[in-house]
Amino acid sequence: MTTRLRPLGLGLIVLAVMLLAIGLSRSGAVSHAASDTLQAQGPLKWYRGNLHTHSHWSDGDDYLEMIALWYRDHGYDFLGFTDHNTLADHDRWVDIDKTRGGRKAFDKLKARFPQDWVEERTTDGKQEVRLKRFEEIFARFNEKDKFLLIQGEEISDHFGKLPIHLNANNLVETIPPLGGTSVSEAIQNNVNALVAQRERTGRPMMIHLNHPNFGWGITAEDLAPVRGENFFEVYNGHPSVHNDGDPIHASVERMWDIINSRRLTELELPLLYGLATDDCHVYHNIPSRGSEPGRGWVMVLSAQLDPAVLIQAMEAGRFYASSGVTLDKVTVTSQSLEVAVRPDAEATYTIEFIGTKKGFDPKSEPILDQEGNELPVTRKYSDEIGKVLKTETGRTATYRFAGDELYVRARITSSRPHPNPSTLGEPERAWTQPVQP
Ligand SMILES: [Zn+2]
Ligand SMILES: [Zn+2]
Repeated sequence: MTTRLRPLGLGLIVLAVMLLAIGLSRSGAVSHAASDTLQAQGPLKWYRGNLHTHSHWSDGDDYLEMIALWYRDHGYDFLGFTDHNTLADHDRWVDIDKTRGGRKAFDKLKARFPQDWVEERTTDGKQEVRLKRFEEIFARFNEKDKFLLIQGEEISDHFGKLPIHLNANNLVETIPPLGGTSVSEAIQNNVNALVAQRERTGRPMMIHLNHPNFGWGITAEDLAPVRGENFFEVYNGHPSVHNDGDPIHASVERMWDIINSRRLTELELPLLYGLATDDCHVYHNIPSRGSEPGRGWVMVLSAQLDPAVLIQAMEAGRFYASSGVTLDKVTVTSQSLEVAVRPDAEATYTIEFIGTKKGFDPKSEPILDQEGNELPVTRKYSDEIGKVLKTETGRTATYRFAGDELYVRARITSSRPHPNPSTLGEPERAWTQPVQP
C-alpha cells in the first residue's frame, strides 16, 4: 500500500510547493483561508509602518521632511502621509509664524537642512516657506528596500456634527469628502471613490476607516454594511479618539467583533481587518500628552517594501497591529491559531483568543438615555459576540478550533505599560487579524 501511494504523495508535495512558490512570487500574499504561517523567512520580512500622519500640509506641527526623518530614525520601514483633504502635490507657501509648528519648527528645519533645501520668501512683510511636495520628499528620503514613503490623504468628511474620517493610501488624486444622507452612506461614497480611482488608474490603493469613536462619530451598525471597506483602526494613538469607549459607547474592539460577526452571517461580507496607527500631529515635545508619533503601527509580512506588495499582503490579512508587542510568528492551520511573541526578558504576556461561534444570538437592543430615548450609539449585543475563548500567559499560545467558530483572533497584552500612552495606564499590545477556521 505505502509503496503504491508514494508517487501520488510525492506529486502532491511537488504541487503544493509549486503553488506556494507561485503565491509568494506574485505578491508575497497567500490568503488566510488556507493554512498560513506568518513568519520572516526566505524573501518574506516583517515591515513596520504607520499609515496615519499629519504635517504642516494640514494640522500637524512639523514639515514632511522632519517627520520622514523621525520615522526613519525610529525603526520604521514605511510611512504614509495623510493630511486632511489634501495631497502634497502642488506648490504651497505658508507664513512661517502662522504654521502650527511656528518659528521653532522652522528653526529646527533650517538647522537640519542648512544648505539649499529650504525655500523662503517675504510677501507683504511676512516670511514664508514653501512646503515640499510629496514627490520631492520621496526623491530625497525614499530608499529602495529600506525606507518607503507613501502618498495619502485623510478624507475628512462629516454627517451633521459627526466626524467621518477615512485614510486613503497610495492614491494619486485628492478625493474630496463626498458626504451622504447617513453616516453609513457617507463612508460608502468615499470608499467608492477610492475604489473607482484604483480601478481607473490600475494602481493598488487602500482605504481604512479611522478612529470610529472620535467625536462618537461612527457606530458598529454604520460601518458593518459598507462594501469595499475591509480595514479600520483598532488602535489610534491620538488621545481624543476613545479607543476604549465609555459606559455608553462600545470600545473599538467591541465594535470590531460586532461588525465581523454580522459580516460573516447576515451581511455576507468579508472580514474587517484592524490597523494600529499614530494619527500624529505634534512632534516637538515627545513624550507629552499630545498626538505624537510612535504609539501604534502595523507589521506587514511581505516579500518587498513596495506599496503594491504591502497592500496585497494586508488585503490577505498578512499583518498585525501593534502598540508595542512584537510577534515572531502567527500560524494558522485547519486545526489551530498559534501565536509566538518575540522574547523580551522584561515583560510577560497574556494571550487571549477572542471570537464568535456559529449560531450566536444576533439580537441587539438600543442604548437608552434616562428618559428612555434611543441614543445614536452602537447597540447592545449578546455576550456571545467577541467572547474570550481561551486565555494563556507566556510567550506562545495555541487555540485549537472546535469547528464551531465563525472567526477567532488573538490579542496579546504585555505586562509592560506603554512608554508613551495615548490614555493613562495603557499596556503595550498586539492584535492579530481574525481568521475563519
Ligand atoms: Zn481623523
Ligand atoms: Zn488624522
